[in-house]
Amino acid sequence: METNQRKPHYYLDLELKYGAHNYKPLPVVLERGAGVHLWDINGKQYYDFLSAYSAVNQGHCHPKIIKALQDQSLKLTLTSRAFHNNVLGEFEMFLSNLFGYEKCLPMNSGVEAGETAVKLARKWGYKNKKIKKNAAKIVFPEGNFWGRTLAAISSSTDPVSYQDFGPYMPGYEIIPYNNLNLLEKKISDPNCAAFMLEPIQGEAGVVVPDDGYLQNVRRLCNNYNVLMIADEIQTGIGRTGKMLATEYEDARPDILVLGKALSGGVMPVSAVLCDDEIMLSIQPGEHGSTFGGNPLSASVATEALKVVIDEGLIENARLLGSIFRHEMNLYISKSKIVKLVRGKGLLNAIVINDLPHSDTAWNICLKLSKNGLLAKPTHGNIIRFAPPLVITEEQLYDCIKIITETLKTFEPDH
Ligand code: PLP
Repeated sequence: METNQRKPHYYLDLELKYGAHNYKPLPVVLERGAGVHLWDINGKQYYDFLSAYSAVNQGHCHPKIIKALQDQSLKLTLTSRAFHNNVLGEFEMFLSNLFGYEKCLPMNSGVEAGETAVKLARKWGYKNKKIKKNAAKIVFPEGNFWGRTLAAISSSTDPVSYQDFGPYMPGYEIIPYNNLNLLEKKISDPNCAAFMLEPIQGEAGVVVPDDGYLQNVRRLCNNYNVLMIADEIQTGIGRTGKMLATEYEDARPDILVLGKALSGGVMPVSAVLCDDEIMLSIQPGEHGSTFGGNPLSASVATEALKVVIDEGLIENARLLGSIFRHEMNLYISKSKIVKLVRGKGLLNAIVINDLPHSDTAWNICLKLSKNGLLAKPTHGNIIRFAPPLVITEEQLYDCIKIITETLKTFEPDH
C-alpha cells in the first residue's frame, strides 16, 4: 500500500488554521477504512472502536452499500420532493414495514430527525390532544443529547452545549433520567405532548436505565395520552444487540427517530417513523428538506439495513457485547483505575476512577491509538467502546488485549 509523503502535522495545521475549532480530535490522520479497520496516512492500521459515533455499524466502506451508492449515483441523485422518483416509495415501504410503523419521513442529519419528531409531537398535540395554542410541552431527561441545533441544545443540561447560545426554545421541561415519579408528575400536565428519550444515553456516557424503565415510560405515556419519542439514532440498527434498544422491554415508541447507521456511515440519512394519526397531522408545505428522501440516500439506506439483517450483525452485537463486558469485568475486578463497564450489545463504556473533567480518559485514548485502537472519551473519565458490528470474536479478543494492556500502564502499581 502506497503511503502518504506528507506528515500528520500538515493536516492538523491546515484544520487548525482554516477550520472552526469546534472539535478536539485525536491527533490521527486517517485515509482509508475497511470493515473494523482504519489506516492512517502512514499506513498504520487501527481497530475503530468509535464507528463514527455508531454510524458505521456495517463496517467501513461496506462493498454492498458502496455498490448501491455507485449504481444509484449514475442514474439519479436528487430530484427534490417537488417531483416523485422511482426509489423513494419502495424505500418508505421497506423502512415502515421493517420497523412496524404505518409511515416514515426521511431527513438527513440526526438532529433534523429529532426536530421533525418534536414538530410532529407539537402538531399532534394541537390537532389531536387539543392542547391550547402554543402551550405544548415536550419533556426531556437530563443528560439527553440529540444534536447541535438551537432546538436540540435548548433541552441540553450540559453547559458546554448550551452556554452562550441563548435565548432557548420555550416549551421544554427537564426531569432526571431514569426517574418515573417525576415523569408522571410532568406528563400528567394536560399540555404535555411528548416525552423524548434515548433508551440508553450515548453521549452522556452510555448511561443504561434500570430494567423496566422503558416499559414504565411506555405505560405512563399511555395513561396520560402523551407520545413516547425514542431517539434511537445511536442505539438503533443493531448496535445494542436488538434492532432497536426499546425492543428489550417491548416498549414500542409512538415516534421512532433513526439516523447514523441508517446509511452505514456513507452519507447523512435519518428518518422518523410513526403511525398515520401522528404523521398525517403534518400536511404539504408544513415540513420538508431539499435533500430528505433523495434517491441516492434511499438506495444507500435500503442496502445498509439489508446488510444488518443479512449478515446477522444484531446477533453478533449481542454475543460479542456480552463477551466484551465479561472480559472487562475480569480486568476491573483487579483494577484500581477502572470503576465499571456498562452497556448493551456493542455500545459500551468504561468509567475511570477520576473526576469527570480530568484528562485521564483522553490520555488513555492517546495511548490506545499508539497501540492500534481508536476510541474517544465522552467525558474526562468515560471512554465509549463501540466497534463496527462486523467485528469477529477473534478480533474482539485481540482488541480486549490491546485495551487491557494499555489500561495496565495507567495502574498506580505499574
Ligand atoms: N441523537 C443521538 C442519540 C445522537 O447520539 C446524535 C449524535 O451523536 C444525534 C441525535 C444527532 O445526530 P447528528 O449528529 O447526525 O445530527
